[in-house]
Amino acid sequence: MRLFHCTYCGHKLRFRQSACSQCYQPTPYYNRLRFWLILTLAVLAAAAAFALSLIV
Ligand SMILES: [Zn+2]
Repeated sequence: MRLFHCTYCGHKLRFRQSACSQCYQPTPYYNRLRFWLILTLAVLAAAAAFALSLIV
């Protein structure tokens, strides 16, 4: 799965790759799985908090 481009050389990055395979620069944080896991958890937590505030 190739979603993002390297910010240094424009090479297409494989998702979850921590470094560009062409220029070996570190990839942006949004190419890491952990970023999306934390983002998803944060959104779910916010949605849960919002739902609870409607109920209570
Ligand atoms: Zn690169």
